[in-house]
Amino acid sequence: MSADAIKTVAVLGAGTMGNGIAHVFARSGYQVILRDVEKRFLDRGLETITKNLDREVKKGKLAEADKAAALGRIQPVTDIAALAAADIAIEAVPEQRELKTRVLKEADAVLRPGVILASNTSSLAITEIAAETSRPGGFIGMHFFNPVPMMALVEVIRGLATSDATFETTMALCQKLGKTPVAVNDSPGFVANRLLLPLINEAAFAVMESVAKPEDIDTVMKLGTNHPMGPLELADFIGLDVCVAILDVLYKGFGDPKYRACPLLRKYVAAGWLGRKSSRGFYKY
Ligand code: NAD
Repeated sequence: MSADAIKTVAVLGAGTMGNGIAHVFARSGYQVILRDVEKRFLDRGLETITKNLDREVKKGKLAEADKAAALGRIQPVTDIAALAAADIAIEAVPEQRELKTRVLKEADAVLRPGVILASNTSSLAITEIAAETSRPGGFIGMHFFNPVPMMALVEVIRGLATSDATFETTMALCQKLGKTPVAVNDSPGFVANRLLLPLINEAAFAVMESVAKPEDIDTVMKLGTNHPMGPLELADFIGLDVCVAILDVLYKGFGDPKYRACPLLRKYVAAGWLGRKSSRGFYKY
């Protein structure tokens, strides 16, 4: 299917990423089928989308009527059978291998033949999860960034079996969405996390070795290398548990000790200091 033929997009999971992905498609005129397991998760996702669209209205970037139209294009569902109407499906359920496999298989069984199935996974191998579906040629990684409405990038990850047609349609669809897609071959951490996590990890080692205080490390990177956020602020934003999980994927995937997670990161996670979401990480919130 060409990108122009895609009118209806299914999004699996209405959490942080899923509601952001639903937001940008609905705002760009697509019909969106937003699926989660319980109504309360859908309600929460729609609440977030409404709040984020309101912010765009306040900034004068969106007309009130267009906000209402965008919301009207989102159909919240709990029944997976609704995916039969989708022209593409994007999975954004939690990063747990068994859960993802189950959800992708369920979606694969309902989607029409020829419909692309994409995953927003941050760290699972696209080639591997594609092989568990009946459509490895029609399977691809679409790695959006948080917050989705603000971040322009999508890493488009080709698995070994991803067809040229699937790849080209996905790239074109991202462009139609106003995003900047970058082609990446399947490899642990893709590009963004492979480069970012070692930076965050090294910053954690610098804290552990008392090289400098967290706020000073962040200031060095902001003022010295023009990063909009310091690595430790960013780690708290991403979640320190998520950082450790991605480092473990890099460590295992490459078998290279340079990706060993800093013991201080592990200690913080063990203490429940996960960053912003737990009100404490490198900083207190
Ligand atoms: P989240 O926990 O905020 O949301 C996941 C949602 O999936 C929840 O609403 C949950 O109820 C729902 N869900 C669970 N089982 C489901 C099922 N069977 N069918 C449909 N929905 C189901 O997670 P998130 O942060 O949005 O992450 C989702 C994916 O995106 C993960 O693979 C993650 O690695 C990836 N990702 C996250 C970020 C980020 O910054 N949060 C960035 C890029 C990629």
